[in-house]
Amino acid sequence: MTELARDLLHWFKNNGRKNLPWQSSPPNVYHIWLSEVMLQQTQVITVIDYFNRFITTFPDIEALASAKEDQVMSKWAGLGYYSRARNLHKTAKIVVSEYNGIFPKTYAAIVAFPGIGPSTAGAILSLGGGISAPILDGNVKRTLSRYHKVEGHYSSSLVMKELWRLAKQHTPQTKNAEYTQAMMDIGATICTPKNPLCDNCPIAEHCEAFLAKEQNIFPHKKTKKQRVSKKNIAFLIFQNEKQEVFLKKRPNKGIWGGLWSFEECEDNDETIDLEVLRHNENAKIIMSLPKFKHVFTHFTLWINPILIRSPGGSINYFSASSLSLGVPAPVKKMLQEL
Ligand code: SF4
Repeated sequence: MTELARDLLHWFKNNGRKNLPWQSSPPNVYHIWLSEVMLQQTQVITVIDYFNRFITTFPDIEALASAKEDQVMSKWAGLGYYSRARNLHKTAKIVVSEYNGIFPKTYAAIVAFPGIGPSTAGAILSLGGGISAPILDGNVKRTLSRYHKVEGHYSSSLVMKELWRLAKQHTPQTKNAEYTQAMMDIGATICTPKNPLCDNCPIAEHCEAFLAKEQNIFPHKKTKKQRVSKKNIAFLIFQNEKQEVFLKKRPNKGIWGGLWSFEECEDNDETIDLEVLRHNENAKIIMSLPKFKHVFTHFTLWINPILIRSPGGSINYFSASSLSLGVPAPVKKMLQEL
Protein backbone atom coordinates (compact mmCIF):
# COMPACT_ATOMS: atom_id res chain seq x y z
CA MET A 1 0.00 0.00 0.00
CA THR A 2 1.39 3.46 -0.86
CA GLU A 3 1.99 6.11 1.82
CA LEU A 4 -0.86 8.16 0.40
CA ALA A 5 -3.33 5.25 0.69
CA ARG A 6 -2.17 4.40 4.21
CA ASP A 7 -2.37 8.02 5.45
CA LEU A 8 -5.79 8.50 3.87
CA LEU A 9 -7.25 5.31 5.34
CA HIS A 10 -5.97 6.27 8.77
CA TRP A 11 -7.58 9.72 8.45
CA PHE A 12 -10.83 8.29 7.06
CA LYS A 13 -11.59 6.29 10.23
CA ASN A 14 -12.45 9.43 12.21
CA ASN A 15 -12.93 12.06 9.54
CA GLY A 16 -14.54 10.59 6.42
CA ARG A 17 -18.15 11.27 5.42
CA LYS A 18 -20.23 8.27 6.43
CA ASN A 19 -23.79 9.61 6.56
CA LEU A 20 -24.52 10.68 3.02
CA PRO A 21 -27.99 9.48 1.94
CA TRP A 22 -26.55 7.04 -0.62
CA GLN A 23 -24.23 5.39 1.92
CA SER A 24 -25.54 2.24 3.61
CA SER A 25 -24.35 -1.08 4.90
CA PRO A 26 -24.48 -3.24 2.85
CA PRO A 27 -24.20 -0.75 -0.02
CA ASN A 28 -27.17 -0.30 -2.34
CA VAL A 29 -25.63 -0.27 -5.82
CA TYR A 30 -28.65 1.55 -7.31
CA HIS A 31 -28.12 4.39 -4.83
CA ILE A 32 -24.37 4.45 -5.48
CA TRP A 33 -24.85 4.51 -9.24
CA LEU A 34 -27.52 7.25 -9.09
CA SER A 35 -25.43 9.42 -6.73
CA GLU A 36 -22.31 9.01 -8.87
CA VAL A 37 -24.19 10.13 -11.98
CA MET A 38 -25.72 13.10 -10.14
CA LEU A 39 -22.31 14.01 -8.71
CA GLN A 40 -20.62 13.98 -12.13
CA GLN A 41 -21.22 17.72 -12.60
CA THR A 42 -22.80 18.77 -9.33
CA GLN A 43 -21.71 19.25 -5.72
CA VAL A 44 -22.83 16.99 -2.87
CA ILE A 45 -24.78 19.75 -1.12
CA THR A 46 -27.00 20.26 -4.21
CA VAL A 47 -27.30 16.56 -5.03
CA ILE A 48 -28.70 15.48 -1.63
CA ASP A 49 -32.25 16.87 -2.13
CA TYR A 50 -32.45 15.72 -5.75
CA PHE A 51 -31.23 12.26 -4.75
CA ASN A 52 -33.81 11.95 -1.96
CA ARG A 53 -36.67 13.09 -4.21
CA PHE A 54 -35.52 10.79 -7.02
CA ILE A 55 -35.42 7.64 -4.90
CA THR A 56 -38.79 8.48 -3.34
CA THR A 57 -40.33 8.45 -6.83
CA PHE A 58 -38.13 5.69 -8.26
CA PRO A 59 -37.16 3.48 -5.29
CA ASP A 60 -35.36 0.85 -7.36
CA ILE A 61 -34.03 0.07 -10.84
CA GLU A 62 -37.32 -1.56 -11.93
CA ALA A 63 -39.31 1.54 -10.97
CA LEU A 64 -36.88 3.74 -12.91
CA ALA A 65 -36.89 1.42 -15.94
CA SER A 66 -40.68 1.39 -16.17
CA ALA A 67 -41.09 5.17 -15.73
CA LYS A 68 -41.90 7.48 -18.66
CA GLU A 69 -39.01 9.67 -19.81
CA ASP A 70 -40.94 12.85 -18.94
CA GLN A 71 -41.37 11.64 -15.35
CA VAL A 72 -37.62 11.06 -15.06
CA MET A 73 -36.81 14.44 -16.62
CA SER A 74 -39.20 16.24 -14.27
CA LYS A 75 -37.35 14.82 -11.23
CA TRP A 76 -34.04 15.90 -12.78
CA ALA A 77 -35.20 19.39 -13.84
CA GLY A 78 -32.91 22.04 -12.33
CA LEU A 79 -29.92 19.72 -11.90
CA GLY A 80 -28.63 20.43 -15.43
CA TYR A 81 -26.70 18.28 -17.91
CA TYR A 82 -29.89 16.47 -18.85
CA SER A 83 -28.26 13.77 -20.95
CA ARG A 84 -27.29 12.27 -17.58
CA ALA A 85 -30.97 11.66 -16.79
CA ARG A 86 -31.71 10.18 -20.20
CA ASN A 87 -28.68 7.89 -19.97
CA LEU A 88 -29.63 6.82 -16.46
CA HIS A 89 -33.08 5.90 -17.71
CA LYS A 90 -31.67 3.98 -20.70
CA THR A 91 -29.25 2.12 -18.42
CA ALA A 92 -32.05 1.13 -16.03
CA LYS A 93 -33.93 -0.39 -18.97
CA ILE A 94 -30.83 -2.32 -20.09
CA VAL A 95 -30.18 -3.61 -16.55
CA VAL A 96 -33.78 -4.85 -16.32
CA SER A 97 -33.94 -6.37 -19.79
CA GLU A 98 -30.42 -7.84 -20.04
CA TYR A 99 -29.33 -8.39 -16.44
CA ASN A 100 -32.61 -9.38 -14.74
CA GLY A 101 -32.64 -6.10 -12.84
CA ILE A 102 -29.31 -6.84 -11.13
CA PHE A 103 -26.56 -4.29 -11.70
CA PRO A 104 -23.51 -6.11 -13.16
CA LYS A 105 -20.25 -6.29 -11.22
CA THR A 106 -17.65 -6.16 -13.97
CA TYR A 107 -15.87 -3.07 -15.21
CA ALA A 108 -16.41 -4.01 -18.87
CA ALA A 109 -20.19 -4.33 -18.44
CA ILE A 110 -20.57 -1.14 -16.39
CA VAL A 111 -18.40 1.09 -18.56
CA ALA A 112 -20.43 -0.01 -21.62
CA PHE A 113 -23.61 1.58 -20.19
CA PRO A 114 -24.66 4.96 -21.62
CA GLY A 115 -23.16 7.91 -19.74
CA ILE A 116 -20.80 5.88 -17.54
CA GLY A 117 -17.11 6.67 -18.00
CA PRO A 118 -14.08 4.93 -16.47
CA SER A 119 -14.12 6.96 -13.23
CA THR A 120 -17.84 6.49 -12.57
CA ALA A 121 -17.48 2.77 -13.35
CA GLY A 122 -14.58 2.58 -10.87
CA ALA A 123 -16.60 4.36 -8.18
CA ILE A 124 -19.62 2.05 -8.66
CA LEU A 125 -17.43 -1.06 -8.43
CA SER A 126 -15.51 0.22 -5.47
CA LEU A 127 -18.27 1.85 -3.39
CA GLY A 128 -21.03 -0.53 -4.49
CA GLY A 129 -19.10 -3.81 -4.52
CA GLY A 130 -15.85 -3.24 -2.57
CA ILE A 131 -13.97 -4.23 -5.73
CA SER A 132 -10.56 -2.60 -6.18
CA ALA A 133 -10.92 -0.09 -9.02
CA PRO A 134 -9.34 3.35 -9.48
CA ILE A 135 -11.35 6.55 -9.80
CA LEU A 136 -10.34 9.89 -11.29
CA ASP A 137 -13.10 12.42 -10.72
CA GLY A 138 -12.50 16.17 -10.41
CA ASN A 139 -11.54 15.96 -6.73
CA VAL A 140 -9.08 13.13 -7.28
CA LYS A 141 -7.50 14.83 -10.30
CA ARG A 142 -6.87 17.96 -8.25
CA THR A 143 -5.48 16.14 -5.23
CA LEU A 144 -3.14 13.93 -7.29
CA SER A 145 -2.01 16.89 -9.42
CA ARG A 146 -0.89 18.66 -6.25
CA TYR A 147 0.43 15.61 -4.43
CA HIS A 148 2.70 14.73 -7.36
CA LYS A 149 3.05 18.22 -8.91
CA VAL A 150 1.71 17.01 -12.26
CA GLU A 151 2.58 19.63 -14.87
CA GLY A 152 0.04 20.66 -17.52
CA HIS A 153 -3.74 20.88 -17.85
CA TYR A 154 -6.28 18.04 -17.81
CA SER A 155 -7.18 18.80 -21.43
CA SER A 156 -3.88 17.18 -22.41
CA SER A 157 -4.11 13.43 -23.00
CA LEU A 158 -0.57 13.03 -21.61
CA VAL A 159 -1.60 14.68 -18.35
CA MET A 160 -4.67 12.45 -18.10
CA LYS A 161 -2.58 9.36 -18.83
CA GLU A 162 -0.20 10.30 -16.04
CA LEU A 163 -3.07 10.98 -13.61
CA TRP A 164 -4.65 7.59 -14.39
CA ARG A 165 -1.29 5.93 -13.84
CA LEU A 166 -0.99 7.59 -10.43
CA ALA A 167 -4.63 6.82 -9.56
CA LYS A 168 -4.00 3.11 -10.29
CA GLN A 169 -0.73 3.11 -8.41
CA HIS A 170 -2.38 4.42 -5.21
CA THR A 171 -5.56 2.32 -5.35
CA PRO A 172 -5.20 -0.39 -2.70
CA GLN A 173 -6.40 -3.98 -3.06
CA THR A 174 -7.88 -3.99 0.45
CA LYS A 175 -10.23 -1.45 2.06
CA ASN A 176 -10.88 -0.15 -1.41
CA ALA A 177 -14.33 1.35 -0.75
CA GLU A 178 -12.98 3.30 2.24
CA TYR A 179 -10.02 4.51 0.18
CA THR A 180 -12.28 5.67 -2.69
CA GLN A 181 -14.60 7.53 -0.33
CA ALA A 182 -11.57 9.04 1.46
CA MET A 183 -10.14 10.28 -1.85
CA MET A 184 -13.47 11.92 -2.69
CA ASP A 185 -13.78 13.40 0.81
CA ILE A 186 -10.31 14.86 1.00
CA GLY A 187 -10.74 16.55 -2.38
CA ALA A 188 -14.13 17.95 -1.39
CA THR A 189 -13.27 19.09 2.13
CA ILE A 190 -9.48 19.63 2.45
CA CYS A 191 -7.74 19.77 -0.92
CA THR A 192 -10.35 22.25 -2.15
CA PRO A 193 -10.04 24.13 -5.47
CA LYS A 194 -9.19 27.43 -3.72
CA ASN A 195 -7.18 27.80 -0.51
CA PRO A 196 -6.61 24.11 0.28
CA LEU A 197 -6.42 23.39 4.02
CA CYS A 198 -2.90 21.98 3.92
CA ASP A 199 -2.34 22.50 7.65
CA ASN A 200 -5.12 19.98 8.36
CA CYS A 201 -4.24 17.61 5.54
CA PRO A 202 -3.34 14.02 6.47
CA ILE A 203 -1.23 13.55 3.32
CA ALA A 204 0.68 16.87 3.56
CA GLU A 205 3.89 15.19 4.73
CA HIS A 206 4.49 13.75 1.25
CA CYS A 207 2.61 16.29 -0.87
CA GLU A 208 5.09 17.72 -3.38
CA ALA A 209 3.13 20.93 -4.04
CA PHE A 210 2.75 21.65 -0.32
CA LEU A 211 6.42 20.96 0.40
CA ALA A 212 7.35 23.39 -2.38
CA LYS A 213 4.68 25.90 -1.20
CA GLU A 214 3.13 25.65 -4.67
CA GLN A 215 -0.27 24.24 -3.75
CA ASN A 216 -1.96 27.29 -5.26
CA ILE A 217 -0.41 26.85 -8.70
CA PHE A 218 -1.44 23.19 -9.10
CA PRO A 219 -3.39 21.94 -10.93
CA HIS A 220 -2.26 24.13 -13.81
CA LYS A 221 -4.99 26.28 -15.28
CA LYS A 222 -6.11 26.43 -18.87
CA THR A 223 -6.01 29.78 -20.61
CA LYS A 224 -9.43 31.31 -20.22
CA LYS A 225 -11.65 31.74 -23.24
CA GLN A 226 -13.90 34.76 -23.30
CA ARG A 227 -17.48 33.95 -22.30
CA VAL A 228 -19.76 34.02 -25.32
CA SER A 229 -22.98 35.93 -24.99
CA LYS A 230 -25.99 34.84 -27.05
CA LYS A 231 -28.31 37.77 -27.04
CA ASN A 232 -31.82 38.57 -28.00
CA ILE A 233 -33.45 35.17 -27.92
CA ALA A 234 -37.18 35.71 -27.59
CA PHE A 235 -39.22 33.11 -25.75
CA LEU A 236 -42.78 33.22 -27.00
CA ILE A 237 -45.33 32.42 -24.37
CA PHE A 238 -48.60 31.47 -26.02
CA GLN A 239 -51.55 31.53 -23.70
CA ASN A 240 -55.11 30.49 -24.56
CA GLU A 241 -58.44 31.56 -23.04
CA LYS A 242 -58.00 29.09 -20.19
CA GLN A 243 -54.69 30.73 -19.23
CA GLU A 244 -52.90 27.56 -20.28
CA VAL A 245 -49.46 27.92 -21.85
CA PHE A 246 -48.03 26.25 -24.93
CA LEU A 247 -44.95 24.09 -24.38
CA LYS A 248 -43.07 21.84 -26.73
CA LYS A 249 -40.53 19.15 -26.08
CA ARG A 250 -36.97 20.10 -27.01
CA PRO A 251 -34.82 17.75 -29.09
CA ASN A 252 -32.62 15.42 -27.03
CA LYS A 253 -29.46 17.09 -28.31
CA GLY A 254 -28.55 20.68 -27.43
CA ILE A 255 -29.34 22.79 -24.38
CA TRP A 256 -32.06 21.50 -22.08
CA GLY A 257 -32.31 18.37 -24.23
CA GLY A 258 -35.56 16.44 -23.67
CA LEU A 259 -37.13 19.12 -21.44
CA TRP A 260 -40.27 21.14 -22.26
CA SER A 261 -39.96 24.77 -23.20
CA PHE A 262 -41.70 27.71 -24.90
CA GLU A 263 -41.30 28.51 -28.56
CA GLU A 264 -38.22 30.61 -29.24
CA CYS A 265 -36.79 32.67 -32.08
CA GLU A 266 -34.37 35.50 -32.89
CA ASP A 267 -35.42 38.76 -31.31
CA ASN A 268 -36.40 40.92 -34.25
CA ASP A 269 -39.82 42.20 -35.32
CA GLU A 270 -40.05 40.23 -38.52
CA THR A 271 -39.15 36.83 -37.10
CA ILE A 272 -41.41 37.27 -34.10
CA ASP A 273 -44.41 38.22 -36.26
CA LEU A 274 -43.80 35.22 -38.52
CA GLU A 275 -43.39 32.84 -35.59
CA VAL A 276 -46.61 34.09 -34.01
CA LEU A 277 -48.59 33.63 -37.23
CA ARG A 278 -47.02 30.24 -37.86
CA HIS A 279 -48.25 29.11 -34.47
CA ASN A 280 -51.79 30.41 -34.91
CA GLU A 281 -52.97 32.94 -37.51
CA ASN A 282 -55.33 34.52 -34.96
CA ALA A 283 -52.67 34.91 -32.26
CA LYS A 284 -51.82 38.42 -31.03
CA ILE A 285 -48.81 39.86 -29.21
CA ILE A 286 -49.99 41.23 -25.86
CA MET A 287 -46.79 42.54 -24.29
CA SER A 288 -43.08 42.11 -23.77
CA LEU A 289 -42.09 40.82 -20.34
CA PRO A 290 -38.86 41.93 -18.61
CA LYS A 291 -35.64 40.66 -20.24
CA PHE A 292 -33.35 38.53 -18.13
CA LYS A 293 -30.20 36.47 -18.52
CA HIS A 294 -29.43 32.83 -17.83
CA VAL A 295 -25.79 31.87 -17.36
CA PHE A 296 -24.50 28.53 -18.68
CA THR A 297 -20.97 27.23 -18.11
CA HIS A 298 -19.81 28.40 -21.55
CA PHE A 299 -22.13 31.21 -22.48
CA THR A 300 -24.73 33.68 -21.30
CA LEU A 301 -28.19 33.57 -22.81
CA TRP A 302 -30.30 36.72 -22.84
CA ILE A 303 -34.01 35.98 -22.92
CA ASN A 304 -36.70 38.40 -24.01
CA PRO A 305 -40.08 36.80 -23.19
CA ILE A 306 -43.14 37.92 -25.11
CA LEU A 307 -46.68 37.10 -24.05
CA ILE A 308 -49.05 36.14 -26.85
CA ARG A 309 -52.75 35.36 -26.70
CA SER A 310 -53.58 32.38 -28.90
CA PRO A 311 -57.35 31.84 -29.19
CA GLY A 312 -58.51 28.26 -29.60
CA GLY A 313 -55.13 26.70 -28.82
CA SER A 314 -55.43 23.36 -27.06
CA ILE A 315 -52.81 20.82 -28.23
CA ASN A 316 -49.68 20.99 -26.05
CA TYR A 317 -51.30 23.64 -23.83
CA PHE A 318 -50.77 23.05 -20.14
CA SER A 319 -51.87 24.66 -16.91
CA ALA A 320 -48.84 26.55 -15.56
CA SER A 321 -49.80 25.98 -11.93
CA SER A 322 -50.11 22.19 -12.09
CA LEU A 323 -47.29 21.33 -14.47
CA SER A 324 -45.69 17.93 -14.00
CA LEU A 325 -43.36 18.09 -17.01
CA GLY A 326 -39.60 18.60 -16.79
CA VAL A 327 -38.90 22.25 -17.65
CA PRO A 328 -35.57 24.16 -17.56
CA ALA A 329 -34.97 26.66 -14.73
CA PRO A 330 -35.61 29.86 -16.80
CA VAL A 331 -38.89 28.45 -18.12
CA LYS A 332 -39.92 27.59 -14.57
CA LYS A 333 -39.09 31.17 -13.55
CA MET A 334 -41.23 32.58 -16.40
CA LEU A 335 -44.11 30.26 -15.51
CA GLN A 336 -43.97 31.37 -11.89
CA GLU A 337 -43.99 35.01 -12.95
CA LEU A 338 -46.99 34.42 -15.21
S1 SF4 B 1 -1.12 19.18 1.43
FE1 SF4 B 1 -2.46 20.71 0.59
S2 SF4 B 1 -2.15 20.60 -1.59
FE2 SF4 B 1 -1.30 18.74 -0.74
S3 SF4 B 1 -2.95 17.24 -0.89
FE3 SF4 B 1 -3.08 18.18 1.13
S4 SF4 B 1 -4.50 19.91 0.92
FE4 SF4 B 1 -3.87 19.26 -1.13
